[in-house]
Amino acid sequence: MSIKENIKKVNAYIPKDVKLVAVSKTRKLEELEEVYSIGVRDFGENKVQELAEKYDNFHKDVKWHFIGHLQRNKVKYIVGKVSLIHSLDSIKLLEEIEKKYVAAGQVADVLIQINIGRDPNKSGVLLEELDELINICEKCNNVKVKGLMTILPKGDELSNRNYFRQMKEVYDDLYEKQYKNIRMKYLSMGMTGDYKIAISEGANMVRVGEGIFGKRIYNNI
Ligand SMILES: *Cc1c(COP(=O)(O)O)cnc(C)c1O
Repeated sequence: MSIKENIKKVNAYIPKDVKLVAVSKTRKLEELEEVYSIGVRDFGENKVQELAEKYDNFHKDVKWHFIGHLQRNKVKYIVGKVSLIHSLDSIKLLEEIEKKYVAAGQVADVLIQINIGRDPNKSGVLLEELDELINICEKCNNVKVKGLMTILPKGDELSNRNYFRQMKEVYDDLYEKQYKNIRMKYLSMGMTGDYKIAISEGANMVRVGEGIFGKRIYNNI
């Protein structure tokens, strides 16, 4: 199937109140253009340099989502270019984001990435680390937490569903609380293989790459 057919199929499945982020990592601008032409404006990238290049050379009304692990020394390159950072995963990164956004006079919208599967190979905070991160977020001036994100460890449908459900519980719990800098708006979970399950468990933002663009070939650009 073509990219256009894929995006129409994904769009047809996704309810109106769920935001689709088209994950365009490794993809050429011509391919992004096909998705853009269908009306998609939210694109996800996981490499700072690639995002910055695409930002400079693509439509200005695109909202760029940073979805990869963000190294502290690269925060400065994305200030002013991203609409949402999905991957706040440590206090040190939080402090760097605050510092660089204060210096630029801008506000960073972020999601806290939670390592719900406690996968040692994945980034994200563990649930028992969440309170401390939240306390420090509350001391920030230029960081706003808009929700939560997760990437699941490989597993079957039952295991995925369980993790998504646990995420939704954490999300609902935070949703009820009153904070200065934290307000639950987005629950970013679900990729090509499991976005339907994620939506059925309460995701309102899904990140789909291969389901739109076809199989990824690395070193494409
Ligand atoms: C690559 C990536 C996706 C998309 O994965 P697909 O399987 O291609 O849909 C989603 N989220 C993150 C964080 C990614 O790095």
